[in-house]
Amino acid sequence: MTERSEIEPVARVINGKAIAARLTGEIGKAVATLRSVHGVQPGLAVILMGDDPASQVYVRNKARQTVAAGMQSFDHNLDGSAPESELLDLISRLNSDPSAHGILVQLPLPDHINVNLVMEAIDPAKDVDGFHPVNVGRLATGEAGLVPGTPLGCIILAKDVTPDLTGHEAVVIGRSNIVGKPVAQLLLAENCTVTIAHSRTRDLPGVVRRADLLIAAAGVPELVQGDWVKPGAIVIDVGINRVPAPERGEGKTKLVGDVAFDSVSQVAGAITPVPGGVGPMTIACLMRNTVQAACSIHGIDYVEPIVDSEKAV
Ligand code: NDP
Repeated sequence: MTERSEIEPVARVINGKAIAARLTGEIGKAVATLRSVHGVQPGLAVILMGDDPASQVYVRNKARQTVAAGMQSFDHNLDGSAPESELLDLISRLNSDPSAHGILVQLPLPDHINVNLVMEAIDPAKDVDGFHPVNVGRLATGEAGLVPGTPLGCIILAKDVTPDLTGHEAVVIGRSNIVGKPVAQLLLAENCTVTIAHSRTRDLPGVVRRADLLIAAAGVPELVQGDWVKPGAIVIDVGINRVPAPERGEGKTKLVGDVAFDSVSQVAGAITPVPGGVGPMTIACLMRNTVQAACSIHGIDYVEPIVDSEKAV
């Protein structure tokens, strides 16, 4: 929250950090019940290949929050030059390890690794990132499965503003497999009328202006401008872009989203900040998915935690 300017937003600023903390708290309670009533301690195995500094930070945060929620965390580090077979062997071992209910392979992977092959090697029941084709198919056909964390986090934040999204014109900018496509599927499941825009979309501002709910996941700093946005719209900014910030001193940088916060927050009804919006929800939803996977593996009914926004914000 410290990276933005002083212009006072007109829109409600959705406090993703507080909502994620509340969700994580509820997950901690669910884990305590699983342990005391069923004798099951959910476990999450995270595989990091190589030494990308940003990935190392993400993996450390995931491990810290997993342990804080009362779950087991298993970290596996592979050399960036390790052969693909080593990674596949590790996944195979974790697939049959009863203490690992969730398996996550941190992306991006080195160039010599076939990402699709790796995703397909994970047992769909343990695929807490929701990238296995079986889980992708389940999401598309409306069956229960594991749903990617960032898209799920976007929906939770939008529903915090408007619990029933039925009939909303939703526009998603971005068609990636990890954000754009799954978030569009989730919006369809919420009965929105969904448009997916991408780099070949003609008249992107005109398309965005139709949106009651906008999800921006293009990876382009401050792409969406204030005069693109319908007054009162809900704006969920997935983008995380590090840009130069010479106003802070030589060589300084800052994080911005795909939405020009200052101008859009004067027009929108609600908006997520960057940082402190979607980002914290991604890990909270990963924790949620690990509990869901543990319940499903042990034949226990999974009860969706209720996140009370009144208490969260
Ligand atoms: P990708 O690069 O995989 O996909 C970007 C998508 O945006 C593509 O579909 C691309 O279109 C489209 N796009 C790019 N430029 C434009 C443009 N000028 N106008 C319209 N569409 C455009 O990115 P990801 O989906 O992986 O991530 C998107 C953003 O979200 C990034 O900033 C990333 O850092 C962030 N992110 C944040 C997470 C979080 O936890 N908050 C988690 C994951 C991602 P085309 O298909 O035609 O190339």
